Amino acid sequence: MDNTALRVVFIAAEAAPFAKTGGLADVAGSLPNALRRLNVDIRVVLPGYRQVFEHGLPHEAVRTDLHAWLGSQRLDFQVRKLSIENAAPIYVIDREDMFDRPHLYGNADGDYYDNAERFIFFCRAVTALMQSWDFTPRLVHCNDWHTGLIPVYMQLDPAFRQCKTLFTVHNLGYSGLFTSDKFALTGLDASHYQPNGLEFYGRWSMLKAGLVYSRAVSTVSPTYAREIQTPEYGKALDGVLRSRQASVFGLLNGVNYELWSPETDSSIPAQYTPGDLSGKRICKADLIRACQLDESLMECPVIGIISRLDIQKGIDLIIPILSELIESLKVGLVILGTGNETLQQGLQRAGEPYAGRFAFIQRFDEELSRRILAGADMLLIPSRYEPCGLTQLYAMKYGTIPVVRATGGMNDTVSEVNEHTGKGTGFTFKHADSADCLTAIQKAVGVYRMPLVWRRIQSNGMSMDFSWEKAARNYLLLYRELTMESTN
Ligand code: ADP
Repeated sequence: MDNTALRVVFIAAEAAPFAKTGGLADVAGSLPNALRRLNVDIRVVLPGYRQVFEHGLPHEAVRTDLHAWLGSQRLDFQVRKLSIENAAPIYVIDREDMFDRPHLYGNADGDYYDNAERFIFFCRAVTALMQSWDFTPRLVHCNDWHTGLIPVYMQLDPAFRQCKTLFTVHNLGYSGLFTSDKFALTGLDASHYQPNGLEFYGRWSMLKAGLVYSRAVSTVSPTYAREIQTPEYGKALDGVLRSRQASVFGLLNGVNYELWSPETDSSIPAQYTPGDLSGKRICKADLIRACQLDESLMECPVIGIISRLDIQKGIDLIIPILSELIESLKVGLVILGTGNETLQQGLQRAGEPYAGRFAFIQRFDEELSRRILAGADMLLIPSRYEPCGLTQLYAMKYGTIPVVRATGGMNDTVSEVNEHTGKGTGFTFKHADSADCLTAIQKAVGVYRMPLVWRRIQSNGMSMDFSWEKAARNYLLLYRELTMESTN
């Protein structure tokens, strides 16, 4: 198939390894390159955060003559291009007062007060950049609320008539919701401030803009695509999504196995393969030492958690069952995560009696996350909702058995273990409650004590293929379907 004609612009607010707070960055860091390998002519656009420039890649100013309007204010900006060999080119929108900050979206006190300004500016600047290019995209792929106004601006500009827009929701829980007084900054006329447009219960939402104005909407797993059309998961946008049902798609995320594999991971003390798991025991000993846990845990199941600490992730569900887990089931628990202050304090308090069997590391630390993936026996993900979830995919590759709530992408990627047949890749539970979570962990601990079956389950998970190569093909099919449509 000849894909040379398919010109795509991929826009996101974060991309690994330059700037990352969550799974969106992993996707934006890998999907464009996987598409490029499928011969898609793809460019990426990101905000020019301090972290992007600090990363150390050479970059050059390619445009110094562009500006964007924020309300009646004219803001000049530069466009810098990062040069990366054999990768999709990355263009960054560089304006210091917007993006040269210690964090991407906010600090410990909350979101930056001017996130509306920052991301309205970003959307306008990206639109101005695309207008200035002689590269005419056939499809513009926007991601999450930070990019939600771009399909609106494109719809208003006849220059983009031939260009389709795809808006991917990585998490419906972040809606880019702002008060009405900020609306004027968008430069849109009042006809857009209504329930069929951007208005959302007395405020307006950049996520809703993307959902309403783009040609198609996708999300990151088939189950989540169905879930968000229901009141339980729809965050009051389920009606909007149902009204667009025929244009809502669920495409599973992938894993970049060049970055996430125990065979090559240089952050872990010993590499290992599906055929020889001896290195995994070395990784377990390393994790136990690093977290100052009892050495006796070498013979007990160690459960890892790597997560943003947000109510979404259901980490609070383990607090009421902690004594059962540690005292009765004799497990060790390692939690790596930051976020919600109350949750952080609750976990810390609950873990206090269990020194030596409970470690809570409150930071964002990719290296440690890899050591947990390799050193733990199980990875627990009790999410209330989970659009796709990446850590269960990483865990499977590292021979670490996921114990997950069967929601969103976890429902699509983890299959329940049958200890009699040796089939399955993990342990799942249905309801977001502590009792259900405990039942799944009890079953997992039971199977852990059956080493031959456990080994089979590890091997099942390690041989799963969630590569981006596979996932990108599904995006390519959707891109083709959309771009082949008539524009009239
Ligand atoms: P989400 O995007 O909702 O946070 P995902 O599972 O899709 O959830 O992606 C989370 C990504 O962030 C994974 O790569 C995970 O390893 C990483 N991550 C989350 N918390 C931490 C942390 N405290 N330290 C290091 N990496 C983390």
